[in-house]
Amino acid sequence: MKNVAGLVFLLLLSPFSFAQEPLKVVTTVKPLQLVANAIVADLGDVDVLIPPGASPHHYSLKPSDMRLLRASDLVIWIGPDMEQFLSKTIQQLDTPVLQLLDGESEEQHHHHDHEESVEYTDHDHHGVDPHVWMDPLDMLHMAEKITDELSKQAPHHAVQLELNFEAFKQDLLVTDQRIETQLSAYQDKGFVVFHDAFSRFVEHYHLKQLAFFTVDPARAPGAKKLAHIQGMLDELEARCVFIEPQFKAEVIQRVVADKPIRLGHLDPLAIDVTLEQGYTGYLQQLAQNIEICLK
Ligand SMILES: [Zn+2]
Repeated sequence: MKNVAGLVFLLLLSPFSFAQEPLKVVTTVKPLQLVANAIVADLGDVDVLIPPGASPHHYSLKPSDMRLLRASDLVIWIGPDMEQFLSKTIQQLDTPVLQLLDGESEEQHHHHDHEESVEYTDHDHHGVDPHVWMDPLDMLHMAEKITDELSKQAPHHAVQLELNFEAFKQDLLVTDQRIETQLSAYQDKGFVVFHDAFSRFVEHYHLKQLAFFTVDPARAPGAKKLAHIQGMLDELEARCVFIEPQFKAEVIQRVVADKPIRLGHLDPLAIDVTLEQGYTGYLQQLAQNIEICLK
């Protein structure tokens, strides 16, 4: 078609065609996408590998995922402690990869070495919690790593990437202060979470997490465990139990049914947070949900 040919010709002539190719970044989980997107901003696109509702602890790569990984300029993942399904693939990829957390030894493996599905948070919690996005200041450090890596891949964008990082940093520090203030009134209100994903958030804001139901969100606690949890909830005077949108919580609802304990929601994967709301919007959502339940 004549018109199409003309359009292509115009596009080739337009000054934009001389700009560099847009950056193509892919992250494994949504919270990382929110952070990387703040750094990349108008310079390109940041995709997310693991779809909403799927767990990074158990995922199988599809052929389309492989195409996405190969077509990207940079792949950002946490590391083998979080996305174990990706370990082999990463080693075989030609695409540059940024790993945010150093691999732990198998003995320290957070999500696989605990057979007990009920644990108190103040003991026997060895290993590193791989949910790194739950600590805002750790994430700031990782955003810096992302900025440096992208500047290496695309030096002509280095100045803009640095500006984007500075804007992200300012927004994050302000948000962090605001949440610190917001949650300071709840530091002595105990709660229980569904899976062990929030310890970094809890530590950062000095909250009182009493226990978690499971280290593996795909594995529901059995009858014996539930009885134990029931006793524990009374004993520890938990004010709230947080469930997650990704997992069925009937079992937990039954446990809490006849107790003066509220059910709240905490999403460890930022499923319904938009790119516009961003990482700070996600932190605010977590803080808001904690406040609503502990009030
Ligand atoms: Zn997890």
